[in-house]
Amino acid sequence: MAEIIDGKAVAEDVVARVKDLAAELKAGRGIVPGLAVVIVGEDPASQVYVASKGKKAKECGFHSVQHTLPAETGEAELVKLIETLNADPAIHGILVQLPLPGHIDSGRIIQTIAPDKDVDGFNFVNVGKLGTGELETAFVPCTPAGSMLLIERVRGKDLSGLNAVVVGRSNIVGKPMANLLLAANCTVTIAHSRTKDLPALARTADILVAAVGRPEMIKGDWVKPGATVIDVGINRVPAPDKGEGKSRLVGDVAYAEASKNAGAITPVPGGVGPMTIALLMANTLVSAYLREGLARPSF
Ligand code: NAP
Repeated sequence: MAEIIDGKAVAEDVVARVKDLAAELKAGRGIVPGLAVVIVGEDPASQVYVASKGKKAKECGFHSVQHTLPAETGEAELVKLIETLNADPAIHGILVQLPLPGHIDSGRIIQTIAPDKDVDGFNFVNVGKLGTGELETAFVPCTPAGSMLLIERVRGKDLSGLNAVVVGRSNIVGKPMANLLLAANCTVTIAHSRTKDLPALARTADILVAAVGRPEMIKGDWVKPGATVIDVGINRVPAPDKGEGKSRLVGDVAYAEASKNAGAITPVPGGVGPMTIALLMANTLVSAYLREGLARPSF
């Protein structure tokens, strides 16, 4: 049976290191990392995410601010707020919770965030830095960055000679994940909905990352014996066995089957999920270190 990769424990380690480094920065230089989270509208899931980010930031000893704007806020007003945050020296990280209401151009908003405060790593400057291997100053999107830390826990930092298959090519997960694996010397293939014979391709993977959004699509016999399997998917499915109207979370990988073949595998929940918020804290701390001209801390 596969080793279960405990994302919750690794995320706690990351947050503990962030707290220590933030305390050092405060004691040594009087600098407190600042994270601003912006939410537009009343989407309940987004409200929960934003609240947990603010709570975690406070736990890390950060200066944490939340801007909650009504759903009818205009694009120009949101741009103005971001420009104010860009200019605010107390803020090191700006996160705009997505999705934004339909009348706002998310692309324009993301590109308005100053690249050195873009802790989500979605601005073209940070995408370009990751793509060209400028990892010392890049902000990498939190979910793939967190997934990479989990892979390193199992395989080490140098993945030379290993084949990686990333299923999914989104800008938020699949593409940055593939770039991180490439930077670590993997031979990388990106698969997507038009890929031919995905099961056979998946079976070539020493490292298999699933970021699809389809419950348990990746079956046990798609997994090469001994492979490291990272399941990014979070899918809510009905669970009538738990009672009427109940549901449960499952990943993109058929976990029970895949565990029989994999060498190591992330569970859902408790795998990649907790890493995302931990890496947001790490990115905000990194931003404060870089602004001070200090060496980038590693995690
Ligand atoms: P996305 O933007 O919807 O992208 C999904 C990707 O999967 C697309 O590239 C799509 O291919 C590909 N795909 C869809 N059906 C496929 C199939 N049958 N065979 C092969 N590839 C297929 O999703 P995302 O934002 O990357 O998120 C992926 C999953 O990760 C979701 O379950 C999401 O909830 C989860 N997620 C988790 C976290 C976390 O914190 N753990 C963070 C972000 C996302 P095409 O490009 O060809 O359409």
